[in-house]
Amino acid sequence: MKKFRIPALCLILVFIITGTLSADLSAQPGIPKPEEHFGFVPGSDYMLFNYEELIDYLMKLDKASPMVRLVENGQSPMGKKMYIAFISSEKNINNLDRLKEINRELALNPNLPDAKREEYFKDGKVFFLATLSMHSTEVAPSQAAPLIAYKLVTSGDPLVRKYLDDVVYLMVPNHNPDGMDMVVENYKKYKGTQYEGASLPSVYHKYVGHDNNRDFVTLTQEDTRAIARIYNLDWFPQVMIEKHQMGSTSIRYFVPPATDPIAENIDAELWTWTGVFGTNMLRDLTNAGLPGVGQKTIYDDYWPGSTETCIWKNVIGMLTEAASVRDASPVYIEPNELQTGKGLSEYEKSISFPLPWKGGWWRLGDIAKLEIESTFSTIKTASLYKNDILKFRNDICRREVEKGKTEPPYYYVVPQDQADQSEMISLVELMKEHGVNAFRLTENYTLGGINLKTGDIVYPLAQPFRAFVKEVMEKQDYPVRRFTPGGEIMRPYDVTSWSLPLHRGVLSHEIKTRDISFEAKLKPLTGTWYPIGEGFKLPALFPVTSNGSFKAAILAMKNDLKVSRLTQEATINGRVCDKGSFLIQGSDNELLNTIVKESKTEPGYVQDPGKLASAPVTLPRLALVETYFSDMDAGWTRYLFDSYQLPYTVLHPDEFEKTDFTGQFDVVIFPGTSKALLMNGKPGSETAPSMSNYHPDYQKGMGKKGLEKLLLFVNDGGKIISWGQSTDLFTGMLEITRGDAKEEFMLPFTNAGDQARRDGLLVPGSLVRMQLKQDHPLTWGMPAEAGVFYRGNPLFNTSVPRFDMDRRVIGSFSEKDILISGYSEKEEKLSEMPAMIWIKKGKGEMILYSFNPQFRASTQATYKLLFNALFPSAEANGSEGIN
Ligand SMILES: [Zn+2]
Repeated sequence: MKKFRIPALCLILVFIITGTLSADLSAQPGIPKPEEHFGFVPGSDYMLFNYEELIDYLMKLDKASPMVRLVENGQSPMGKKMYIAFISSEKNINNLDRLKEINRELALNPNLPDAKREEYFKDGKVFFLATLSMHSTEVAPSQAAPLIAYKLVTSGDPLVRKYLDDVVYLMVPNHNPDGMDMVVENYKKYKGTQYEGASLPSVYHKYVGHDNNRDFVTLTQEDTRAIARIYNLDWFPQVMIEKHQMGSTSIRYFVPPATDPIAENIDAELWTWTGVFGTNMLRDLTNAGLPGVGQKTIYDDYWPGSTETCIWKNVIGMLTEAASVRDASPVYIEPNELQTGKGLSEYEKSISFPLPWKGGWWRLGDIAKLEIESTFSTIKTASLYKNDILKFRNDICRREVEKGKTEPPYYYVVPQDQADQSEMISLVELMKEHGVNAFRLTENYTLGGINLKTGDIVYPLAQPFRAFVKEVMEKQDYPVRRFTPGGEIMRPYDVTSWSLPLHRGVLSHEIKTRDISFEAKLKPLTGTWYPIGEGFKLPALFPVTSNGSFKAAILAMKNDLKVSRLTQEATINGRVCDKGSFLIQGSDNELLNTIVKESKTEPGYVQDPGKLASAPVTLPRLALVETYFSDMDAGWTRYLFDSYQLPYTVLHPDEFEKTDFTGQFDVVIFPGTSKALLMNGKPGSETAPSMSNYHPDYQKGMGKKGLEKLLLFVNDGGKIISWGQSTDLFTGMLEITRGDAKEEFMLPFTNAGDQARRDGLLVPGSLVRMQLKQDHPLTWGMPAEAGVFYRGNPLFNTSVPRFDMDRRVIGSFSEKDILISGYSEKEEKLSEMPAMIWIKKGKGEMILYSFNPQFRASTQATYKLLFNALFPSAEANGSEGIN
């Protein structure tokens, strides 16, 4: 990179923000201007670049400027490379390794001597991580990325130079590269037509679409893991902002702090820092002449799962949200259309919204300005408080460790011996990925009256990420806050339960007594930990209690091994294997050992398989129904099936009419989607549809004819699996016609959910208790009682059937103590109501769940209720096996 000098006059000019985006920037020899690279000024109306063009530009900056280093940081689910662009002073960029080490020490070492701390405060830099446009329709932050980078690199302002001496800016130029390219391509496809700005007719991600911001506890997706690694294991930034957009008619820009409720486990000082950064943003943006900035509204800071989950890892984690345009097309907003959200009662001048925006045209470039200004403001604040922020990071590390020694609980213990071995192993591996310190117990020990065994996994709370350990290992109690004393409750923004052991059906002990001699028996869990050996031999029996056994069965069936399910309980190697356990036979032991690894489940060797009562099982031909409407629940189901390597065919509702269901499929699966979308391809209700933003090609549902075809499939012996809202498809009067014979019927169940909601039932996404019918093929491997993830609708009732129909209640909500984890109102309305039902019609059957058995791939405790429905053994198939 060539050295350059800028005339003094220019130094002043370059830092002045004018109405245009980059015209104010002086040309820098060798540093490519964004418009030269993209062919337009980013943020211009109707113009978008894609991910590859963005990365190409940053690569050019990396080459041209010693202040930029682009570092590869993982892969997207569809195989695109992900990056962090480090932007800072040349000196810092050349010193990243040393600065990284300082970050790690400040973040993780509670025993730093004072002199060392002082040295690190002086030599260290604030690392500010910004993740842009994880939600791909929220295009502006990534479109502003080149402007931000160019402006930082070329600014001759001595103050900006000073800030970049103190701060290393880590820009993730796009959090969701797959989605960015999908959305940009879709926008270009319709640009200039009457359907400009039409929504993408799928999720903008390989699987989870908008729910990528719900994945930061469970870390199921590759892009999530790439981002989380930055603060869990690699760079330990002290400050993080995720950059989003919201609807068009709200305030123009949300800045921190969030509104109530806030997470109880988070250190008080961390909240005050979100206030410092946010208030400085509000001040700087207002000062720059940008109206409409508000704080303490709409977004609360209670639920983990977003990128902000880093606050549980001691990062000053925040969120900004800009009002949207239609992708890159401007929108005009009338003043009467402007509205507010929780925490801001009127769209009027307020202490947290001092300069309302008055309405009018709103453009991509307006958002880009907000993104540039808010980024510069954050860098400035980080610089102004550099030493305090670095001190805070080590102080909070010390405080969390100290709290873990003085405040119960002191340990969570996960026994190695579990009904579901695969989920225990997955949990331990997940915690490792979260950067949590884990230990193994080296001898049997009785603690707090609980007999713990050698090899059990121990999570002491005395560790830097204590808040995270506690948050995900305990059950959730929603912190009720009201808008006014005795007034309306502030309802949760998202779900209210995420406890890893409860959601996974993994036993864990919360220990509330501290014991120093117990701690002496702990050894750090190393990277090589794995509780399953090698050298397994066929025939092998995989216990049905382990989710992994279903994966083992799928892999075995795909590789032509003989698979059957026990129809009688059996004892193998002294271990009882329940009915439904998988017997795998064949001769390829090498393959078996691969299957064991994949399934994270230890099988038993079967000496004489002929003595076991079992019935064969084969891979079902599955159709998975996915609508065009950003169908995240279907996407999560695809993810679940892919992660179990289970083959399936995606079917859109508008394809039903021409589908030969009986010829092609054994099972049709309906994830939780509304009846209106499934039937008509329009949101709203079936009787009062509303318009959507999708091209008419995609505003199509199965229609009456498609539904009838589906019902004929069932009548003739097919199987339907349906959960959540999609079960509404099967309520009310249904009909099938054969030749001239028309048959009308009502299945023997109804949905009482709407009435219950009117009567005050509210379950915003909580774990509730369900009792399960025992010794039944649909509940094989399940305990008598389980926690299910429920969202308050539907609420089933059954009735006495007529003619060729029948029903059985497979699971019911408990009579009392219904709520296990999370929040609910009037949950007594659930008492003893059916939660999972089996319906027979003609020769076929339906399995209906009021809850989501696979919610966001985070409810492993109920996966078996879905898998059992997919893999009945021959004997259990059909009505004969149903009792
Ligand atoms: Zn968003």
